[in-house]
Amino acid sequence: MASRDHLRHTLSVLTLQNHFANMVVHGDARSRRKEHDMRAAFKIMGTTDLFTDCECCHRTHLRSTVALQPLDQDGSPDGELTYYGTGCAATAMGWSSYRVRKAARYANYEAAIARRTELRDGARSALPRLREFRAVLLRRMEAGEDPATVAAAHANRLGTAMWRYDPARRAEAEDAARGSFATGGLAAVLATYDRYLTEMTRMSVVDPTAVTY
Ligand SMILES: [Zn+2]
Repeated sequence: MASRDHLRHTLSVLTLQNHFANMVVHGDARSRRKEHDMRAAFKIMGTTDLFTDCECCHRTHLRSTVALQPLDQDGSPDGELTYYGTGCAATAMGWSSYRVRKAARYANYEAAIARRTELRDGARSALPRLREFRAVLLRRMEAGEDPATVAAAHANRLGTAMWRYDPARRAEAEDAARGSFATGGLAAVLATYDRYLTEMTRMSVVDPTAVTY
């Protein structure tokens, strides 16, 4: 009975929030209950081509690997992600390779939705600032202020707006503003603002679930 309860618990951890994946997990577990109890538990986080060596059998130059999150007895994350080839991931989980690929694809899909949701919300938060900064930039251009001073300030402002949208791209946006000033003056900085405005406007109304993968 204890092992049954433990299995149920493990299953609830492994269960993906997808009806189809759910059926796969439970269907598989029925036939593999015994092996499952003896195995380390993992959660499939997705596939990646950033790591192409299997950490299990050390095969190299795989097309992609499956990212596995080790779980402790309670089903909480336990340690760092580990990257296995599909075959080794299947062995580790007691699943078929087909099921591993399917679960990994679904995890990728979920991650893509989460990422798009994050960007959409970031865009909604950043857009009012960016519009405001653009208006100020335009005013300062029309007032004939010193272009270098205006450009420096508005490279920073673009950076702070970008930080709300997608923090990892803050430096990219600041560099883009500085670079455009160097080649095309404030008019080019304004064009850079407009490029980011267009991107954020598009992302602010995106449907996060409309992901192709
Ligand atoms: Zn391997």
